[in-house]
Amino acid sequence: MESIWKKYLKPIDNVKKTDAKVTKLDCIVVGGGIAGIMCAYMLAKEGQKVTIIEAAQVLGGVTSNTTAHVTSLQGRYRDIPGAKRRKLFFQSQQQGIDGIEELVNKHKIDCDFQRTDGIVFGNGKPLKKEFKVMKKISSDIRLEKNKKLPFGDFDCITLNMQARFNPINFCYGIIKAGNFDIIENCRIKKVCLMKKRLETENMIFKYNKVVFATGFPIINIRGIYAFKMYKSSSYAICKNNSQQLGAIYNSVESDGMTYRDSEDGVIIGGFDHRTGRHKCSKYFSKLGDGKFKWAANDCMTFDGIPYAGRLLRVFARDTYVISGFSKYGMVNSFISAKIIADTVSRKKNLYKRLFKPTRVLNVKVWPLFFLNFLLDAKNLTAGLFSSGKRRCPHMGCRLKFNPNTKTFDCPCHGSRLTKKGDIIISPTVDANEKLL
Ligand SMILES: Cc1cc2nc3c(=O)[nH]c(=O)nc-3n(C[C@H](O)[C@H](O)[C@H](O)COP(=O)(O)OP(=O)(O)OC[C@H]3O[C@@H](n4cnc5c(N)ncnc54)[C@H](O)[C@@H]3O)c2cc1C
Repeated sequence: MESIWKKYLKPIDNVKKTDAKVTKLDCIVVGGGIAGIMCAYMLAKEGQKVTIIEAAQVLGGVTSNTTAHVTSLQGRYRDIPGAKRRKLFFQSQQQGIDGIEELVNKHKIDCDFQRTDGIVFGNGKPLKKEFKVMKKISSDIRLEKNKKLPFGDFDCITLNMQARFNPINFCYGIIKAGNFDIIENCRIKKVCLMKKRLETENMIFKYNKVVFATGFPIINIRGIYAFKMYKSSSYAICKNNSQQLGAIYNSVESDGMTYRDSEDGVIIGGFDHRTGRHKCSKYFSKLGDGKFKWAANDCMTFDGIPYAGRLLRVFARDTYVISGFSKYGMVNSFISAKIIADTVSRKKNLYKRLFKPTRVLNVKVWPLFFLNFLLDAKNLTAGLFSSGKRRCPHMGCRLKFNPNTKTFDCPCHGSRLTKKGDIIISPTVDANEKLL
């Protein structure tokens, strides 16, 4: 069970090796997924001396388990509170797509980047509501009723000039073009923000600035991310298909079904659910037959807008976070990285306030916040009454076995562990004892 993108992973030439007990670095980016790489690239462009510290292999995390639609049309604008915010967010996404294309052209990155129509499909009320909201945002949005799509008849919201690419080849292109160092196989286990120190099992890294781009931030208390986000899991397959789809498709429904073409076949994704709360053990067979099948999870915010920027104004001025892409990390990595690079260089950025990690959440999403809080409390309590090995090493919630992926998933913050207790997805920084 492996993602189509894993076959594009390769060793990187300029990986830095260090055995020193204490290493002093200027700017550290923790996490070598698309967010960390974009951030390192942009910070280096601003004159920072950047080093990425990655727990395993660069790009081996969620970025190699994506479906890589590069789109502003995400089918969820109706859930973003506030008309102004929706419009600004849309503008950021359009700018992100253009920014990615510019990088592809500037550095001549061979990553199958193709502009294509973006289509949000569905039937009934959710699509009507989404269209009502979208047409106030952009006059380029079109509604087509009862359109024949390769997978059924649906009403469609269409927007031209969206895109798709190969995320791994894109990121390798950025690594090649960027002026930053990478340290692999180095998991940060302890963070001391006051002393500006990161610790692994046997090494210490001192820094001037740090960016956490680890998916779910590995800092528990500061920023209270443990309660401000949850993880949602999705499943995907790639199958040979004689018929090209010609566009990228996202469902307006909560199952999040998506369809796109790639050099290797058609990629279908979906069956989104809160991590640890799967309703079925047959998501893969429901997706059909395909040589490549994979599943992963991503961080979801309650207002649908990522967290990117300075962690706190006091005590942690030189600490930055990027997280909460809500399954749209391709474009949002670009925008979030730009926000952080501009903040570090004290430049203006139109989206800084919108993405601010310390923003007060709009009252409309407070019920979601409280519901999430209750679910976390329930799972933490369940953890207290279960055997040690079934507790997530992150905060102690009770792990749930996912028969689809044969992994143990944490219903609170989405850590994913193998049966042997090894980490597949953070935020846990510690492996577990053997679970099965
Ligand atoms: C099935 C699926 C489909 C998706 N489809 C799309 C799509 O079509 N379009 C789109 O825009 N987005 C999509 N997304 C979302 C997108 O893939 C993610 O938002 C994005 O890849 C996240 O990138 P990242 O760099 O934040 O995380 P990652 O790629 O997971 O990178 C984080 C890195 O941090 C490292 N790390 C973690 N903890 C530590 C530590 N303690 N020390 C050092 N390193 C650490 C990890 O090893 C990892 O390499 C999808 C997500 C999923 C799950």
